[in-house]
Amino acid sequence: MDLGIRGKRALVTAGSKGLGRGCAEALAAAGVDLVINARGAEALEATARDLAGLGVRVTAVVADITTEVGRQKVLQVAGEVDILVTNAGGPPPGSWENWGREDYLSAIEANMLTPILLMKAVLPGMMARGWGRVVNITSQSVKAPIASLGLSNAARTGLTGFVAGTSRQVAPHGVTINNLLPGIHDTDRALSLDGGVVKARGITMEEARAERMATIPARRYGTASEFGAMCAFLCSQQAGFIVGQNILLDGGATLATL
Ligand code: NAP
Repeated sequence: MDLGIRGKRALVTAGSKGLGRGCAEALAAAGVDLVINARGAEALEATARDLAGLGVRVTAVVADITTEVGRQKVLQVAGEVDILVTNAGGPPPGSWENWGREDYLSAIEANMLTPILLMKAVLPGMMARGWGRVVNITSQSVKAPIASLGLSNAARTGLTGFVAGTSRQVAPHGVTINNLLPGIHDTDRALSLDGGVVKARGITMEEARAERMATIPARRYGTASEFGAMCAFLCSQQAGFIVGQNILLDGGATLATL
C-alpha cells in the first residue's frame, strides 16, 4: 500500500534501537526523510546509515531527549516536521514502597512531559501547514496496570489524558495524534526486564521467556518491524480519520472486551 507520505519529514526520538527504530525503518520504507535521536552515538550512526540505505535523507542527533537541553538540540536540528514519533526509555521496575519523589519526577519527565513538550513545539507548524501526524509510543500498562512498572503506569497515563483532549483540539487543522501501546516486544528493553526475572527467581532466560510467552495468546513476543508498520500506517494519508486513539499491539495479552 502506498501510504502517501513520500517526501514528508519525520522526527523519531529514541530511534536507534527497538520500537523507535522499527518506526523509523517503516517510515523510511514509505519514503519519509528522517531526523532520529538517541544518547549513544555508535548505534545511532549505524541506524542512520542503514536507514539512508533505503533512499531517504537521515540526520542523527545525539542527545538525551528527556532533558530540556537535549530536546532543544533535537528540535533545532529537526526544524519543520510533518510527522513526530515520540519515544524514550521506560522507567525501571520496582515497588511503590521504594520509590521517592525523584523517581516519580524522572518518570514524569521522561514518559509524560517529554512527549508533551515535543508536541507543543511541533504542533503549531503542523497546524499552520494543515497537515501533521503524531504517534506517541506508550505502553499496554495504560490499559491494564503492570504493578512492578508503577512509574510507567503513572506517567504514561498522564500523557494519555493529555492526548485525549489535545488530539481533538488539533484535528480541525488536519493534525492527528494517536498513541501506540506496545505489549511485550523482542527488544533490549524486554531482554533487560526478562534479565531481572532471571536474577530474582534463579531461572534461565529461556524459562523466563517461555513463561512470558505463555501469557500472550499469540504465544510469542512482537517484533519491532510489526510495530513500525502500524506506526507508519498511523502516519499515512489513509489514517487521517483516526484521532486520539490508543492502539494496543500486544498479541492479545490484555484481557479486555474493548
Ligand atoms: P529499547 O530496545 O531499549 O530501545 C530504546 C531506544 O531508546 C534506544 O534507541 C535508546 O538509545 C533510546 N533511548 C533511551 N533513552 C533515551 C533518552 N533518554 N534519550 C534519547 N534516546 C533514548 O526499548 P524498546 O523496547 O524499543 O522500548 C521503547 C519504549 O517502549 C520504552 O519506553 C519502553 O518502556 C516501552 N515499552 C516497551 C515494551 C517492550 O516489550 N519492548 C513494552 C511496553 C512498553 P540510547 O540508549 O543510546 O539512548
